[in-house]
Amino acid sequence: MNIKKNDVFEVIIEDMSESGEGVGKLDGYIWFIKDAVIGDLIEAKAMKMKKNYGFARLMKVLKPSPARVKERCAVARQCGGCQLQMMSYEEQLKFKQRKVYNNLKRIGGLDNLYLPGEGPGAGEKDGEGDRAGDREGGESGRKPVIMEPIIGMEDPWRYRNKAQFPFGMNKENEVIAGFYAGRTHCIIENDDCLLGIQENREILAAVKQIMTQYGIKPYQEESHTGLIRHVLIRKGFRTGELMVCFVVNGRKLPYSEGFVERLLEIPGMTSISYNVNMEKTNVILGREVVNLYGPGYITDYIGNVKYRISPLSFYQVNPVQTERLYGTALEYAGLTGEETVWDLYCGIGTISLFLSQKAKKVYGVEIVPQAIEDARENARLNGIENVEFFVGKAEEVLPKQYEEDKVYADVIVVDPPRKGCDPVCLDTIVMMGPKKVVYVSCDSATLARDVKYLEERGYWVERVSCVDMFPMSGHVESVIMMRNCGLKGK
Ligand code: SAH
Repeated sequence: MNIKKNDVFEVIIEDMSESGEGVGKLDGYIWFIKDAVIGDLIEAKAMKMKKNYGFARLMKVLKPSPARVKERCAVARQCGGCQLQMMSYEEQLKFKQRKVYNNLKRIGGLDNLYLPGEGPGAGEKDGEGDRAGDREGGESGRKPVIMEPIIGMEDPWRYRNKAQFPFGMNKENEVIAGFYAGRTHCIIENDDCLLGIQENREILAAVKQIMTQYGIKPYQEESHTGLIRHVLIRKGFRTGELMVCFVVNGRKLPYSEGFVERLLEIPGMTSISYNVNMEKTNVILGREVVNLYGPGYITDYIGNVKYRISPLSFYQVNPVQTERLYGTALEYAGLTGEETVWDLYCGIGTISLFLSQKAKKVYGVEIVPQAIEDARENARLNGIENVEFFVGKAEEVLPKQYEEDKVYADVIVVDPPRKGCDPVCLDTIVMMGPKKVVYVSCDSATLARDVKYLEERGYWVERVSCVDMFPMSGHVESVIMMRNCGLKGK
């Protein structure tokens, strides 16, 4: 390979990386090129090179891929938040589905897995019968598992219910709001991210107007001066309630009545507050919230479970797809009202509360104490009494409960962070021998690793689906149902 740094070369994009960069090959050397789409012929400039792979910048698209579309957002490339915006939504969904499929096949060793509409049983409806039993014995034994079509959004824009806009100043000394350009702290002005709600623009305009009127300065990171660092905006999609929280480098927000009065002109405005963050830090929110107007929270629903969302509480950013994701988990769990369910890595208990309406009892386990406080509060708020939450590591709480109290589960649901489940946790699951394991995952590589581990210990994959929670980004969520095929456990 005789390409040197800054050389310009032509390459065809053949694949896409985990994070959505285009991947091209020249003489066996692999190039990662941001903003290039599978099928593009491009001109690229070599930027950074390692032994077997390098990074290049997209200079010109010579022949666009059929999957390529024009970005809707003027700053899509600088921002870096939407890695896939230049790909048609249909192709994005195909890309994500294939990513999950490839990982489950290559890492998970699922050679009986097929893409939707493919495979020997194509077209047949999957029965809920005792298929695991059918698979015992026979050498090729495994029935085909056909992935269900990926669940995308009808409208893949404006799905985020939360945004945190950094504030700053442009060269003309005017107040601006926007986002940090990929991996930097330069603010690029943009008050209408197309993934966010329409109201963001009006709220930001109102805030800028009041700041200018009263001479309130945005925060300057280099000098650690100025007041307003970020503005956090949240909306309850089901209720229409809006929340604004100013993140300030100070103990007070001067002229707060002016802000409140102006913001209340916006329909739906329900909660206005400020958050104190005087640290030199990249962390956006400080610990203290001071209420300026309203009850201190907004309300929203996932399914028919109600949530109180305060500025500091965690809440899924795409509630529409969250409901579909957890709805799939519920369907896979196949509850009749008699089951005992464990929900490991339960966060604020969204899955636990969702399942509790169809189960006898749900136990949730989560490492962050604040999340468990929220989970318990949410259970109370909804009058749900058949759930119980534990604070601690799944790999410690579950073994302890099993050894000491011989706890039982019909179904175990896991929704771990990107690194997947701890082997001790998986071993305990196998020992407990639930009929089903439902695995919800945001990283299909670690999902595939854990699926392999469970398959080798008697849990066979029966249903697989993916949900697109973050259109325009490279992320994809999956849900898998594995059934106890009777090798171990009961
Ligand atoms: N289903 C949850 C979200 C799960 S995200 C909800 O609806 O809120 C993964 C969660 O796992 C996070 O809340 C994280 O704090 C938690 N976590 C990370 N490591 C853990 C561990 N070892 N044991 C238990 N929980 C853990």
